[in-house]
Amino acid sequence: KQSWMARLKAGLAKTSNNLSVLFVGAKIDDALYDELEAALLMSDAGVDATTYLLDTLKRRVKEDKLLDAAAVKAALKQLLLELLTPLERPFELGRHTPTVMMIAGVNGAGKTTTIGKLAKHMQTHGQSVLLAAGDTFRAAAREQLMVWGQRNNITVISQASGDPAAVAFDAVQSGKAKGLDVVMVDTAGRLPTQLHLMEELKKVQRVLGKGMEGAPHETLLVIDGNTGQNALAQVKAFDDALKLTGLVITKLDGTAKGGVLAAIARVRPVPVYFIGVGEKIDDLQPFVAAEFVEALLG
Ligand code: GDP
Repeated sequence: KQSWMARLKAGLAKTSNNLSVLFVGAKIDDALYDELEAALLMSDAGVDATTYLLDTLKRRVKEDKLLDAAAVKAALKQLLLELLTPLERPFELGRHTPTVMMIAGVNGAGKTTTIGKLAKHMQTHGQSVLLAAGDTFRAAAREQLMVWGQRNNITVISQASGDPAAVAFDAVQSGKAKGLDVVMVDTAGRLPTQLHLMEELKKVQRVLGKGMEGAPHETLLVIDGNTGQNALAQVKAFDDALKLTGLVITKLDGTAKGGVLAAIARVRPVPVYFIGVGEKIDDLQPFVAAEFVEALLG
């Protein structure tokens, strides 16, 4: 069985190879920087982060009088580490009963899978968890969560033809009454009616606050690490609407290019609590910048 680090490395292999190959026996000249620029853009880092990385790297190479390609590669690695470290934020449950978490994300991002992994993780650490099936738009999403809850002995609150805000409110009431540790509220993620979706999510957020002061304590956005610059657009849109407290970036074991983290760090630095590196329970890992950079440029 492959370790999660091996899967992360495999997922980022394309970017990793593109970057590493540049430095093999290379001269430090404009051609190298041009190729580096292309590789960073290809990695989904976006124009802002790419420009920042290149400019800063060039300056350091000059200041530190770096003469060989290996040293330049090491400098890039250090620079990436500095850029990504501020995104690191260990996830800790507050001292609320319950801690209310709202989970958002477009369909297919890995929201349900992530909720399952998180709930299971908390349960195995002795925390009592309640899930709210707030994606009332997709019957299948509700069913999926119900079945999963039954199998894992986790209560799921659901309403067949419900208003998502009502489901969320019920869940908080129930969590308070039972003295639970965590209430996790799943939400809809349909795309075609973005504007309406944001209004609906804002309403869920407001209603959670009415159910319990200070709730939701966490508003997480789940994004698919394979969607490149579109992931950044999602972070911006959801953060504008909901003031996110954290991100989960999934599918970094797939064919993700990884650069989008640099873009997020530069353009909208919402902390990354977890990364998804597979479909199983253990495949949700805390984001640690040093590990990520190691997988990318190790
Ligand atoms: P939702 O529509 O956002 O709820 O997305 P789902 O949770 O249903 O996930 C969509 C697909 O992505 C499913 O096939 C999941 O198994 C898969 N998936 C989710 N997270 C990961 C991950 O970190 N790695 C991989 N390889 N697949 C994932």
